[in-house]
Amino acid sequence: MSEESLKSFAREKLQILRDGNLLRSLIATERLPRTRTRQQSRDLISFACNDYLGLSHHPAVIEASRQATSTYGTGAGASRLISGNNPLYAGLEAALSKLKGTEDAVVFGSGYLANVGVVPALAARQDLILMDELCHACLHAGATLARCRTIRYRHLDLAELSELLRKHRSAHRHCLVLTDGVFSMDGDRAPVDDLLGICEEHDAWLMTDDAHGLGVVENGRGSGFVGGRAVPVPLQMGTLSKAVGAYGGYLCTNAEVAELIRNRARSLQYATGLPPGTLAAATAALELIATDRDLVRKPLERARRFTGRLGVAAPDSPIVPLVLGDAQRTMQVAAALRQRGFLVGAIRPPTVPDGTARLRLTFSAVHAEENVDGLAAAVEEVLPTR
Ligand SMILES: *Cc1c(COP(=O)(O)O)cnc(C)c1O
Repeated sequence: MSEESLKSFAREKLQILRDGNLLRSLIATERLPRTRTRQQSRDLISFACNDYLGLSHHPAVIEASRQATSTYGTGAGASRLISGNNPLYAGLEAALSKLKGTEDAVVFGSGYLANVGVVPALAARQDLILMDELCHACLHAGATLARCRTIRYRHLDLAELSELLRKHRSAHRHCLVLTDGVFSMDGDRAPVDDLLGICEEHDAWLMTDDAHGLGVVENGRGSGFVGGRAVPVPLQMGTLSKAVGAYGGYLCTNAEVAELIRNRARSLQYATGLPPGTLAAATAALELIATDRDLVRKPLERARRFTGRLGVAAPDSPIVPLVLGDAQRTMQVAAALRQRGFLVGAIRPPTVPDGTARLRLTFSAVHAEENVDGLAAAVEEVLPTR
């Protein structure tokens, strides 16, 4: 009986998605070195993943992971606060704070866990959260968990942010301002220096999500830098699962906040630590990001080569959106590119706002230039009106 009502609930929900061309499915995908990908026995070049530097297949990174796994086993065994705080955490957190120029860093199980842990640890009922409307879903989730007044400002509209602060800041105890550093679905950058200036004026705390900045903008040091200069953003969150090629999330911040987060972020306290092999992989990858200037320049170079071929505006990050609007057409165009040997992201609502379904192309240091040119030619073929 109850199983039947449960099933019919699921069926109804799925039908709504199907009717809107919004049903998703998981497709087995083998990610091989150098962006080669095998999907349903087809060989494709992937422009659909966030391994911007190819580090998930780098020999030194794999070897570090292998060694740590041999020594410490495959799992952490407990929360970091119980017995899961492997000695490798110290080196990883030191590498992160050094790269970002902060006093300390705290590593979480993932970027999603970092945001849903950090935001409610810093903001509660009496407080105010102001966030860019295009912030990543897990920042929205963190704000929901904080259970305080949350207002979304129009994307990158700093005048609206200032206005909201003038109007609402004084009625609240603390105020947290949330933004992506590089926006995940558009690839544009937030002006973190201007945002910090506005936050300083109103005693608001700025938190940036650098998931798509680390390793690929500003000599690899991420969106907390502007023109090579460190912007002292007090709360810099990010992930180890994109350019770093491993898994995990982090917050780079001052010593006091780091200690508070270790004590109060529930997603750190009540979740098992990362596998030792993952900690070692991330540490080895960060070493490459910190030292290989040539590597960290390449993803953006590849992206600009592509937009140059197409004659469209040069991007600020290795993420290039081709907004088509209609969800069904987006899926069709992605399928046509797949026929030509290229795997691209087809992004539909609610991941992006209604009416802005798009192809999301991501460029990697390990893409061969001829693959980039091949993709440009294929896009011109399947989207002749562009
Ligand atoms: C991917 C992503 C996250 C989540 O990071 P995971 O490590 O994959 O959980 C957070 N914020 C942004 C902007 C992202 O793109």
